[in-house]
This record gives sequence, C-alpha cells and structure tokens, in this order.
Amino acid sequence: MTGFSIIRRTRLEILQANLGYRCNQRCIHCHVNAGPERTEMMDRATIDQVIAFLDSSDLRQLDLTGGAPEMNPHFKHLVRSAREMGLHVIDRCNLTVLEEPGMEGTEEFLADQGVEIVASLPCYLKENVDYQRGNGVFEASIRVLRKLNQLGYGQKDSGLLLNLVYNPLGPFLPPLQILLEEAYRREMGERYSIVFNRLYTFTNMPIHRFETVLTSRGERLIYMKLLQEAHREENLNAVMCRKLISADYRGYVYDCDFNQALGLHLQMEGRPRVHLSELTGIDLKGNPVPLLEHCYACTAGQGSSCTGVLSKAPNSKSQINL
Ligand code: SF4
Ligand code: SF4
Repeated sequence: MTGFSIIRRTRLEILQANLGYRCNQRCIHCHVNAGPERTEMMDRATIDQVIAFLDSSDLRQLDLTGGAPEMNPHFKHLVRSAREMGLHVIDRCNLTVLEEPGMEGTEEFLADQGVEIVASLPCYLKENVDYQRGNGVFEASIRVLRKLNQLGYGQKDSGLLLNLVYNPLGPFLPPLQILLEEAYRREMGERYSIVFNRLYTFTNMPIHRFETVLTSRGERLIYMKLLQEAHREENLNAVMCRKLISADYRGYVYDCDFNQALGLHLQMEGRPRVHLSELTGIDLKGNPVPLLEHCYACTAGQGSSCTGVLSKAPNSKSQINL
C-alpha cells in the first residue's frame, strides 16, 4: 500500500540505456549491485537496436549508465552514432573508471564528441567519499576532474558540461541542493582548483545494496518512514518516469533505472515485458506508471531525479549536514 495516485507518461524525451552492470567500483549505496565481478554487458546487436530505435524516434537525449558505461566495448560506437543524429548524450561517469587500463584517451573522446558528464562525487572530503565508494576513490576522482577541467569541462563558455552528483552517506535526505552546490563550488575551488557546472543531489534508493546495508543496521523501516513523511505530492508532476524510459543490457524496457534494477518491466497492452525494438513508432504518452514503495525516494523533500531535485527548496536557511 503506497497511497500514491496513478501517474501517466507525457511525451517521451529521453532514452536511458544501461550498458551493463560491470563497474570498477562496488559502492555501498549502488542500486544495481554493480561491481568488477558482474558480467552482464549490452552486446553489439543490442547496441545496434538502440541506435535503430533512436534513429526512428524524435527523442532529444541519450543517457548512458551502468555499471560504468565506458567499460562496454561498444560505448564509443553508440556515442558517435547518437551524436551524428544530433542527440544530446550524457555519460554517467564514476570518474575513477577513466584511470583503468584500456581507458586511455576516453576523456579526450568525450570532449571531442561534446558529451555531457554527470559524475558521482558524494562529498568534497576524502574520508566521506572513500567510505561510500572505496579506498583511493577520492584522490583518483580529483585527478580525473582536473584532467576534465584541462580539456574544457566545467569551464565557462566551453560548452562541455560537467555536473557533479551528491548522495547521502546514510539513511537521510540530501541537504538543500542550492546550498550544497554553493558549498561544493567554494570547497572544490579553494581546496582543489576544480570547477564544475551544476551539483545534483540524489536521494538514496532503498533497494539492493543500500537496502541490504539499511536492513543489516536495523535502519530500513526508519528510512522508509522518513521518505514517506517527507513525500510531496507536487514532485509527482516531474518524476523522471513521465518522460524517460530505461533499457537494460538486453534491450528490455522499464519506466526507470530503479524499476529495471527491481525487474519491474514497463507495462504496455498487458504484455509481460517489452523490448526496445517493439517500441518503434509507438507513442507511450498516457501510458500508466505503477508507483511502489521505493518511489518515495523520488518524491521525498525536494524530490530526486537523474537531474537532481524536482521542486524548489521550501526554505533555503537549512543547515548542510554531510
Ligand atoms: S554506484 Fe555507480 S560507481 Fe558505484 S558501484 Fe554502482 S555503478 Fe559503480
Ligand atoms: S522510482 Fe518510481 S517515481 Fe521514481 S522514476 Fe521510477 S517509477 Fe518513477
């Protein structure tokens, strides 16, 4: 029982493609249980189905995620193809992957293609980042951010967007995005001479690895209560599942990446599951999106989506507690 009203899709604008669950990191909040041991990766045939779908649609954006999407051997082929079609392409990058063997030149490729980078950095303090994402992650992230800045990313008028992502270290809501962005800009500038465009705050999704951590600490029910009590109905107008679909590494389609992680397929005409190749020419406008308990992570407080908050801060005088 969630108490949510039904919501329906608006015009489809964004395809979020999950290129596989392999990742060089194994973060404690990861909602897809990604890690170095995962083998699921989108193959070339499915990548070509993604390209064919994009070619037949009037979508404006391709959003690449994973795992670490850059680890997919067909990543560059997909990016080039989407850019040739004039799509805006986003790479959801964990930064450290760009220092892995075989990734040489990927930063330059992203800059040449004008790909927007959305990079996870849950704090400007080393100990907090390494706690959530693993030892050594903070220093590697700083090195990669400096290189991206040198290539023009985050620099005024370069056209190369570098947006950072904060998510809480524990079972609480993010601070106000507008205040935290100010603090990040100041601290990243003064401590490390790093610039960026925007900071997005994400609410941790109580599923998979983060749910396991909460359960093991006896904090799951407390967190769910927090999310439900902070629910704001107006956030339902802007949740990302209204205008985005998510495709998994096999090309099956979901209302969002979280539903993908939970195996909750997009519902259409009573079919148990829908493949991207079956959506050519189909208008999903008006299609219902079933909302479940985990959806409170999208509607609590300022709301949460893949581009940060959904509604204005109720009061900008709140404290920042990282
Ligand atoms: S949160 Fe991102 S960087 Fe961390 S394990 Fe999951 S996919 Fe990898
Ligand atoms: S978790 Fe729920 S509310 Fe959030 S995007 Fe997915 S379906 Fe929509």
